[in-house]
Amino acid sequence: MRNVAVLGATGSIGTSALDVIARHPQRFRASVLAAYRSVDALADLCARFQPDLAVIGDEACEQALRTRLASLGLSTRVAAGNAALTEAAGSSLCDTVVAAIVGAAGLESTLSAARSGKRLLLANKESIVMAGPLLREALRLGGGELLPIDSEHNALFQCLPSRRDGLAQAGVKRLILTASGGPFRGKRREDLAGITPEQAVAHPNWRMGRKISVDSATLMNKGLEVIEAHFLFEAAVEAIDVVVHPQSIIHSLVEYVDGSVLAQLGNPDMRTALAYGLAWPERIESGVAQLDLLGLARLDFQAPDLDTFRCLRLAFDAMRAGGTAPTVLNAANEIAVAAFLEGQLPFLAIPEVIESTLAAVAPEPVRDLAQLVQTDLTARHTAQRMMRTSFC
Ligand code: NAD
Ligand code: MG
Repeated sequence: MRNVAVLGATGSIGTSALDVIARHPQRFRASVLAAYRSVDALADLCARFQPDLAVIGDEACEQALRTRLASLGLSTRVAAGNAALTEAAGSSLCDTVVAAIVGAAGLESTLSAARSGKRLLLANKESIVMAGPLLREALRLGGGELLPIDSEHNALFQCLPSRRDGLAQAGVKRLILTASGGPFRGKRREDLAGITPEQAVAHPNWRMGRKISVDSATLMNKGLEVIEAHFLFEAAVEAIDVVVHPQSIIHSLVEYVDGSVLAQLGNPDMRTALAYGLAWPERIESGVAQLDLLGLARLDFQAPDLDTFRCLRLAFDAMRAGGTAPTVLNAANEIAVAAFLEGQLPFLAIPEVIESTLAAVAPEPVRDLAQLVQTDLTARHTAQRMMRTSFC
C-alpha cells in the first residue's frame, strides 16, 4: 500500500490524482491532503478520503478548516502554513508525494519530498525551473525517485531507456516536446492586442488551472517545459526542440542516432501520466478512454512562431544564460500572469515584463536555496516596478 500526499489536492492535477487513487483502494491511500485556501473543497475531500493530515497553506484559514472537519465528525489532524506543508512532504505519513501546487509556492515542499527519499510525482514545473540544480542534488541525497507528471516529460520518460548514464551514451539525439499551440495558434501579434483573461484560459484540448492556461496561451508553458526537460534529463540546450502539434495526441518524442523516433500517444487526460507515476514500473487502469486510432482524422506538425509567442524564445534564452536566469524568468512570469489575470496588464505586455526583468537582474551561478529565494523575490519586485512604470 502506498501512502500518498497530494499537495494541491483541490486543483486540476490534484483532482485527477485523487480520481486515480480512488480507483485502486488496494494499492493507494491518500494520507495527506493539502490546499491553499479552499476550506470547503478540502474538507469535502477529507470526508471522502479520510487522510491522516490535512494542511491548509493559508494560516488564516486554519480555524475554519478545524471547525468544518469537526462538524463532519472527522478525526483528520489539521496543520497550516508553508512550513507545515514542507514538513508533511518529508514526513513518515507518506512515501509518495504528488507535487501539484501551482507556482514557486511549491518549491520547498517539492525539495522536502526529494530530500526525504519519497517517490516524487512532479507536476509543479515551476519548482524545477526555479531550482533545477538543487532539486537534482536533493534527489541524489534522498535516494528517492522522480516521476515526471507533465505530460510531455512523462512521455519522454516512457520513451527513454530506463537505465542510462547520459542521453548521448544512450544514443539519444534530440528530445522533441510537442505543443498544442494554445488557444491563439495561427494568430499574429496584432491579433492578440485586446485578449481578455477569459479568452486566454480557454484551452482547446486541456482543462487546467488558470495560471498554466495563460502560460499555454503565451507559449511560456512550453518554455518552462524546455527548461524542465533540460534539468530532468540532463539534456543539452541544442538537444531540445519544440514542435507544434495541435491535436495533443502525441505527448512528446525521443529521436535516436539510428534514425528511430519513439513517441508516446494517448488522449489528452492527465490521469494517464498520474497512473503511470503512481504505479511505475507497473501499469494500471487510469479511467482514460483508449485512443481511437481510426477516429483520429490526422496528426499535424508545425514549427512554433517565436516572433508572435516571444515567451518561448525568452525561455530558451534564459536556459542558455543558465545560473539564476530561469529563476528570474519564472518569477517575472508569475507576476506578469497574475497581473494579466487581474485585468491589470495587457496580454502582449507579458513577454515585455519578463524580458525587461531578465535584463535588469543579472544571472549568477546557483549556490543554495537562500540565494534562489532572494533572487525570486528581487525578480518579483523588479517585475512589479517594470509594470508600474511602463504598463499600468
Ligand atoms: P490549479 O490552479 O488547478 O491548482 C493548484 C493547487 O495548488 C490548488 O489545490 C491550490 O489550493 C494549491 N495552491 C496554490 N497555491 C498554494 C500555496 N501557496 N500553498 C499551498 N497550496 C497552494 O493548478 P493545476 O492546473 O492543477 O496545476 C498545478 C501544477 O501542475 C502547476 O505547476 C502546473 O504547471 C502543473 N501542471 C498542470 C497540468 C494540468 O493539466 N492542469 C499539466 C501539467 C503540469
Ligand atoms: Mg505539459
